[in-house]
Amino acid sequence: EDPEPGERRGFFGRVLGRDRKPVIRRELDDEMLESLEELLITADMGVDTALRVTANMAEGRLGKRLSVEEIKTLLADEIARIMEPVARPMPLYPQKPQVVLVVGVNGSGKTTTIGKLASQFRAAGKTVVIAAGDTFRAAAVEQLQVWGERAGVPVLTAPEGSDAASLVYDAMQRARTDQADLLMIDTAGRLQNRSDLMEELAKIVRVIRKHDESAPHNTLLVLDATTGQNALSQVDAFRKLSDVSGLVMTKLDGTAKGGVLVALADRFGLPIHAIGVGEQIDDLSPFDPEEFAKALAG
Ligand code: GDP
Repeated sequence: EDPEPGERRGFFGRVLGRDRKPVIRRELDDEMLESLEELLITADMGVDTALRVTANMAEGRLGKRLSVEEIKTLLADEIARIMEPVARPMPLYPQKPQVVLVVGVNGSGKTTTIGKLASQFRAAGKTVVIAAGDTFRAAAVEQLQVWGERAGVPVLTAPEGSDAASLVYDAMQRARTDQADLLMIDTAGRLQNRSDLMEELAKIVRVIRKHDESAPHNTLLVLDATTGQNALSQVDAFRKLSDVSGLVMTKLDGTAKGGVLVALADRFGLPIHAIGVGEQIDDLSPFDPEEFAKALAG
């Protein structure tokens, strides 16, 4: 059954039954490992990662009698070990403006994330300019304007259907004139039209590099955690289209299946800069591997 909203119940309620008395010990045997594996797969960890996690848990411990708490701790430690290397905030470099290109499929949370990040940078005393580079979706542009207002940040737009790269060119100039600390660029997310998207992103990057060869300084891929294993193929796809430098995982408030983050970390090792935990402007948090591991292990 589904956990109550807001309650992140881990796997152990189901593996070990409702009787979660910490004094009860269970043998760490193949059967137990298999149930664990299944549950990790159910939580979207993917087969390979689930197998690796349980194999590591079993190492030197097969046949041992462990309490529920000990098993939970083992699992959480294993998960944390995979997640720690990727838990890194977005790096900022000395160049001005810092160019942050934001990519991802439509609906993943790009616009929302840009608004939240802009607000955090503003709160840290930085000046920000946003470019509404998804010129094909009027709704995305409007939404970005709303976020810009909330965050107190100017949003540069272009007429619907116009060339995104020329908007980005203007935005680079504006950010320079304004001596802005950051320029955040929204992009189209039409993955179903890959060659167009690839061309568009390549053109945007060329335009950015005309101003600053070291830019974009960050290319953030925004992924919706509720899409489960799909997130893995999105990383594959966007890495072919752009130089993804880090991830933002959104909608972690809406899923008990955050296991896909472990699969992502295990497979790609890309830094997770932040996690989205709601629709409001403050609902963007740094990624805390230990807290995440504990929540996932239940
Ligand atoms: P875009 O198409 O990639 O720009 O996606 P949007 O930013 O428009 O987000 C799509 C939907 O997801 C909107 O309804 C957002 O409010 C919602 N959303 C974005 N991030 C989060 C998050 O972290 N948690 C939740 N619950 N919803 C989110």
